[in-house]
Amino acid sequence: MNWKEMLDKSVVSAKELADVLGEKTDEIARVAGVYPMRINPYWLKLMKKPGDPLWRQAVPCADELSDSPLLEDPLCEEKDSPVFGLTHRYPDRVIFLVSNRCALYCRHCMRKRKVGKHQGAVTDATIEAGLAYIEQTPAVRDVIVTGGDPLLLEDAKIDAILKRLSAIPHVEMIRIHTRVPSTLPMRITEGLCAVLSQYEKLWINTHFNHPAEFTPEAEKALRLLNRTGAPLGCQTVLLKGVNDAPETMAGLMRKLTKNRVRPYYIHHGDAVKGTGHFRTSIETGLAVVNGLRGHLSGLAVPAYVIDLPGGGGKVPLLPESILARDDKSLTVKGYDGKTYTYPL
Ligand SMILES: *Cc1c(COP(=O)(O)O)cnc(C)c1O
Ligand code: SF4
Repeated sequence: MNWKEMLDKSVVSAKELADVLGEKTDEIARVAGVYPMRINPYWLKLMKKPGDPLWRQAVPCADELSDSPLLEDPLCEEKDSPVFGLTHRYPDRVIFLVSNRCALYCRHCMRKRKVGKHQGAVTDATIEAGLAYIEQTPAVRDVIVTGGDPLLLEDAKIDAILKRLSAIPHVEMIRIHTRVPSTLPMRITEGLCAVLSQYEKLWINTHFNHPAEFTPEAEKALRLLNRTGAPLGCQTVLLKGVNDAPETMAGLMRKLTKNRVRPYYIHHGDAVKGTGHFRTSIETGLAVVNGLRGHLSGLAVPAYVIDLPGGGGKVPLLPESILARDDKSLTVKGYDGKTYTYPL
């Protein structure tokens, strides 16, 4: 199946899901009525049993409706939004939403207030307004093209957006944020790559959360993307029951670097309404990161970040390494857990 057939054959209703998986429909229908579901046949085949890491990311769960103290937009993306679908918070870079569809609706999505919904959707007019804002704002050096998933647009549309952005002299970097290499790898076609190869300012950030997402199809997609010349990165979300064990995360980082994808961030789960059941403690996050540094190539170690509520931005967290200090030395914990003295 090509990527469009895959999308067309996606499971989007509780009834269809019951037909293929024999799962109870009432609960899933209730959740999917609030936060859309889409599970395409590629991902469906990778899910093995209820509660496994791929299942948890894709199948609606009653917990999504029971974490009401959390907010829909704790990071206040809307507050820093000069035009619809564009967030300008940091001095030199913007987030630019060009699609609100995805190949799979991740249950942990931090933008689940928006993705897959018709109301408040991205349109040609909102894309045009975003492009005009970027053209008129010389402070913007770096444009994060995201959504939804930008690579669900047609090749010609992607080409047109990249052409406009590339032509803006003050835009030095364009990043595409996409999950299709893991959720719909057949979307990475030769034709799409021919489009992407034309743009020298382009970087591509993917989103993988578990080693089992590295199928032969996904690895082929990454090989094709690597040939476009765009540096590849990955943003992973720390998710309870998916990748919150140090060995799992280390395995994921090894898979990424083996496929020449540089791990960029591990995001601590934001306090977004509908995703509370995926959040771990900070201690769990620090333990996971502790299992990476020193044990793996430095290129396989991303920054572990929390995003401050209210729009404060991202801050990296590191396991404590300085145990004590005096005038002459630091007492430092090494990756092997032993204590060392570092002379000052
Ligand atoms: C994460 C984020 C960015 C990009 O930040 P980098 O650290 O440069 O990747 C830009 N704008 C907003 C609002 C963000 O949340
Ligand atoms: S692909 Fe990204 S934007 Fe789409 S549902 Fe998943 S996390 Fe959200």
